[in-house]
Amino acid sequence: MYTQFSGQARKFLTLVIDDHVLNIAKVSFKATPEYQKLLVSSTQNALGSAIRWLWLVGLTCSGYIFLHNQIRYYSELHQSTRNPFGTSIDYAIGAFLVFLFACALFSRLRLSHQLISTLSIKTLAWGFALIGCYWAVILTLLEGNQQLLFSVSLYFILIYSAMAGLYVSTLCLYSFVLPLTVIPQVIQFLFFSSFQIFVMLGIVIALCLMETGRRMLSHWFNQATRQEYTSLTYAAKLDKIAHIDPLTHIPNRRQFANRLNKLISLAPLSNTPPTVILIDVDYFKKYNDCYGHLMGDECLINIAQSLTHSVRDGSRDLVARYGGEEFVVVLSDITPALALEIAQRIHNEINKQVIPHAASDIADHVTVSQGVAQWQEGESAKHLLSRADEALYRSKGLGRNRFSIAE
Ligand code: GH3
Ligand code: MG
Ligand code: MG
Repeated sequence: MYTQFSGQARKFLTLVIDDHVLNIAKVSFKATPEYQKLLVSSTQNALGSAIRWLWLVGLTCSGYIFLHNQIRYYSELHQSTRNPFGTSIDYAIGAFLVFLFACALFSRLRLSHQLISTLSIKTLAWGFALIGCYWAVILTLLEGNQQLLFSVSLYFILIYSAMAGLYVSTLCLYSFVLPLTVIPQVIQFLFFSSFQIFVMLGIVIALCLMETGRRMLSHWFNQATRQEYTSLTYAAKLDKIAHIDPLTHIPNRRQFANRLNKLISLAPLSNTPPTVILIDVDYFKKYNDCYGHLMGDECLINIAQSLTHSVRDGSRDLVARYGGEEFVVVLSDITPALALEIAQRIHNEINKQVIPHAASDIADHVTVSQGVAQWQEGESAKHLLSRADEALYRSKGLGRNRFSIAE
């Protein structure tokens, strides 16, 4: 009985400890500059959507107050009791509705989204502070118009809507909420010398609930941004792995195929079509047999570096490992004469390295044979490569350590 209980307890503890370790792993997330950049752009995107939604909130609240006041005004009961606060509310709400419709027109011109994405969060916060001040004036006027309940309800609607929209930026949220909270209370206190303790208590409770809600939403937002960042980082790593040869660290056959297909698709537009050079190390099997596979690997790494030095920069020429001891070079925007010059440069560079190869039948060092083929109109990548391969085998047949041009 005791051992059973202690076994269960240990199992439970392992679970708890494992969970704890997992949580530590989650917490130790490194906020790199790239992550900060993603966080800022996600925040700006979220604020862009929030502004559209808050526009709707503003329109609905203003429309409701406007309608409510008109009905109140025309009802027999209040016709004679209309005071200057009521008229001011009409003007203020009317002006705000005009402003909202002007914003809608501006956004139809498709300028608003570009503008919002260029504005800094601080500038947006100033905008929200101004709108907060406007609503503070409306709340004060409503209180002056003996519509206290209406004013309090509107206050709650506004702060919770702001929380739902602006939780991504504490600065923007509080730039809106603080004037909305403080200004009506200060005016009440200064001009009407009234201080309602229960209204204040209600405001404090509402603000505490708003803050806890903001924290919860903000936590999920940060979590989602972290996950997006992690996925993007892994995708970039996988993309690199998928396009780089692990031994020589030069582009692999997949990257070569992508580049060649792209160049072929653009070839009809250019008057200097792409050229490929297939390169094969001579008597490499014998090299492995003589020096071992590890030295063979080293030799391939050296050859890859020599090839990379022989061509122009990576944006125009690409050197890739085609497979085994075969390499391929794809040259873009090149004349036939320059392509031959590059093949000659490769020949010279490899011979200059003088990597000892005692088992070679043609030299005392490592050599390569090459086949050069220029793309012809209407030709597929496969056909171009088969012509380069034919030229390579001609070089082999002619005694190796040379290059031949495809017919
Ligand atoms: P040829 O001059 O006709 O090209 O003869 P070769 O011996 O170079 O050609 P073959 O196709 O007979 O042999 C190629 C050798 O390349 C066989 C293989 O063991 C070796 N090889 C292929 N990939 C690697 C690699 O990643 N590392 C090492 N060390 N050797 C490799
Ligand atoms: Mg080969
Ligand atoms: Mg070979």
